[in-house]
Amino acid sequence: ALSHHENWERQWRNPTPKKQYDVIIVGGGGHGLATAYYLAKEFGVKNVAVIEKGWLGGGNTARNTTIVRSNYLWDESAVLYEHAMKLWEGLSQDLNYNVMFSQRGVLNLGHTLQDMRDIQRRVNANRLNGIDGEVLDAKGVQELVPIMDCSKNARYPVMGASWQPRAGVARHDAVAWGYARGADAHGVDILQQTEVTGFKIRDGQIYGVHTNRGDIEAKTVGCVTAGNSSVLANMGGFNLPLESHPLQALVSEPIKPILDTVVMSNQVHGYISQSDKGDLVIGAGIDGYNGYGQRGSYPTVEHTLQAIVEMFPIFSRVRMNRQWGGIVDTCPDACPIISKTPVKGLYFNCGWGTGGFKATPGSGHVFAASLAKGEMHPIAEPFSMFRFHSGALIDEHGAAGVAH
Ligand code: FAD
Repeated sequence: ALSHHENWERQWRNPTPKKQYDVIIVGGGGHGLATAYYLAKEFGVKNVAVIEKGWLGGGNTARNTTIVRSNYLWDESAVLYEHAMKLWEGLSQDLNYNVMFSQRGVLNLGHTLQDMRDIQRRVNANRLNGIDGEVLDAKGVQELVPIMDCSKNARYPVMGASWQPRAGVARHDAVAWGYARGADAHGVDILQQTEVTGFKIRDGQIYGVHTNRGDIEAKTVGCVTAGNSSVLANMGGFNLPLESHPLQALVSEPIKPILDTVVMSNQVHGYISQSDKGDLVIGAGIDGYNGYGQRGSYPTVEHTLQAIVEMFPIFSRVRMNRQWGGIVDTCPDACPIISKTPVKGLYFNCGWGTGGFKATPGSGHVFAASLAKGEMHPIAEPFSMFRFHSGALIDEHGAAGVAH
């Protein structure tokens, strides 16, 4: 069908690597590309390369279920995710690229009294941080999602939910491509099929990277490699407190529009939305084991679908079309690491675990500011890797959970 459209412009160049850049970003996912875009556009650092071992956005950016929300409990994370949310709200205009950001709202269900107390606490905290949120009872939830089983006979009856109306979903590929096109237009070199295999470090200072296409020099290197971050950290000679786990998702055959919001439940452990194509987009928590294979195990798929059918008996005969996995880098406190490292000039932005897509614009923005100035942006500051020495953890397990 597209064979007559032969004169489409390339969205970004395919340049030969230069010998030297001011900044190298390792990892061409959404976060890496957003970092490069803001570096060039807002901070005037244009001699930048994004080095990606595969293809753009082929990591978790392409594999995620695209839920965007900012209703995190603690001030540090609430500020970070809300910074991202504000950028999402203008992103299509800023990039002149339709990222299909759809603010259809997100429900986090409560099934027990303790769930509801936690929801109340979190919504109160959100409001104090200027983030929209409401506590709904079961009737309010049923009004929003008439097809959900909110009856008292359910195995885990719905008692209520938190509701963030400004939350929603976006088109993952478009986010990577929009940032890539924007970064390229500002002069950033995007180097695909280029794998970083080591760092060039002298006297505690980075001065370049080894790649399968030769060495490339830069005195500032930012690693944004999601599930591979501990591998890269080891190349730098230090450890990060990360575990790499598979996280799976699946989509159904396309069906007519039936669900116009996002529903998540930590208790039954599943979440669901409907894509613009009509597929039901379904996910759950991580597979319990560590690994780098981008696939998961069947018990998790079964458990996930049990959860969905528990909430939505109406979907019990919908057929699943595709299933896949990504590798997520989970941190002990369920918060990211945006940080300097023991190597001068080497920075890491990782540990987003199951929930980093929503942060893409904010993460890229604060990381770019930090790389440009050589000092961490105030929003990034609390997410230093050294918090695991000082003990200043930011425990977001409640707000993260299955609820990416
Ligand atoms: P990636 O997109 O993974 O990019 C990292 C890149 O680094 C990769 O392209 C990789 O090839 C490259 N790389 C690695 N090593 C090297 C090397 N040595 N040299 C060069 N390049 C290298 N988040 C949400 O907010 N909402 C959700 O609903 C959600 N659902 C998810 C569902 C699933 C199934 C999965 C897997 C994740 C989900 N997430 C979600 C998490 C989210 O996808 C990630 O946190 C986010 O996309 C990470 O973005 P990134 O750009 O850092 O990583």
